[in-house]
Amino acid sequence: MSNQELDNLRSNVDELNLEILRLINERAAVVQEIGKVKEKQGVNRYDPLRERHMLNLIKENNTGLLPQSTVDHIFKEIFKTALELQENDHRKALLVSRKKKAEDTIVVVNGERIGEGKPTFIFGPCAVESYDQVAAVAGAIQQKGLRMIRGGAYKPRTSPYDFQGLGLEGLKILKRVAQEYNLAVVSEIVTPHHLEEALDYIDVVQIGARNMQNFELLKAAGSINKPILLKRGMAATIDEFIHAAEYIISQGNDQIILCERGIRTYEKATRNTLDISSVPILKQETHLPVFVDVTHSTGRRDLLLPAAKAAIAIGADGVMAEVHPDPAVALSDAAQQMNLQQFDEFYDSLQKFMKSYEIHA
Ligand code: PEP
Ligand code: MN
Repeated sequence: MSNQELDNLRSNVDELNLEILRLINERAAVVQEIGKVKEKQGVNRYDPLRERHMLNLIKENNTGLLPQSTVDHIFKEIFKTALELQENDHRKALLVSRKKKAEDTIVVVNGERIGEGKPTFIFGPCAVESYDQVAAVAGAIQQKGLRMIRGGAYKPRTSPYDFQGLGLEGLKILKRVAQEYNLAVVSEIVTPHHLEEALDYIDVVQIGARNMQNFELLKAAGSINKPILLKRGMAATIDEFIHAAEYIISQGNDQIILCERGIRTYEKATRNTLDISSVPILKQETHLPVFVDVTHSTGRRDLLLPAAKAAIAIGADGVMAEVHPDPAVALSDAAQQMNLQQFDEFYDSLQKFMKSYEIHA
């Protein structure tokens, strides 16, 4: 074969490649149109019967050199990429995404504007144990001019034999204290059944790490008119976290605060591994405010302050941490809650840190 002949054949192949490329792209554009029609009709994008029909038609007409299994393989890849393209379109259109809404969402709680640039703070005990215990922490919070208190009334515990929380009684304590100290209540709800009743007692509904993919709870939270603090699941990817928030917003509630609380890794030095880079990623990808829970992410009192500084420095909209008047006898998370004096020191140091970087709380 002369060199001339080889060159001709090669240029023939180049042309065919380009022709295939043009056809694949043309096909993708048509599939995209089909996707739009299907979305309007509310039907599923993937249709296995239709795919079977297309493969059969191709098989009936395969009179070329390629074995059927190879042809099937190539076309399945082509089908798959077109379907992914439709999904990417959908992904771009997530209601929580920046692409859908460029401006920051600001969640207003008791006059605090969360997500507007100035860091905000949620402190309070891990669990509500008694009126006196919550009131002691509320006093310290109020003294600092802060507006929110946290406290779990329904505690999702690893063991069923551990303290499960005071339930409704706990919510009543929270409400009483909140009224006396002019604070808004942030408290976890673990099942849709408790949601409606809880609305009379709490201002922000917390959905905990263990329930980040409790889709019925997410949908129920999406249909109420109260802010939701959604914590990242301990084994959830950022994408899963974002989709969990999408469950809430898809039902009409856009008052969502995301909360990074550490993920489980092989590292044992901390209770979880604080995924600090998730903060700027979530800020870029979504328009929602992002908090960092320094207590559950580190599980170590000595790391609360450095982790909180890191959170603020990297652009978090706020910090959550647990405070208990006497952590040693706390019914949950005794090892990592701050006592009132440690709380004062923690807050003072954080204020100094923020001043030195001209971040104003
Ligand atoms: C909590 O904040 O009370 C709590 C249980 O945290 P998490 O869901 O992040 O474990
Ligand atoms: Mn806790």
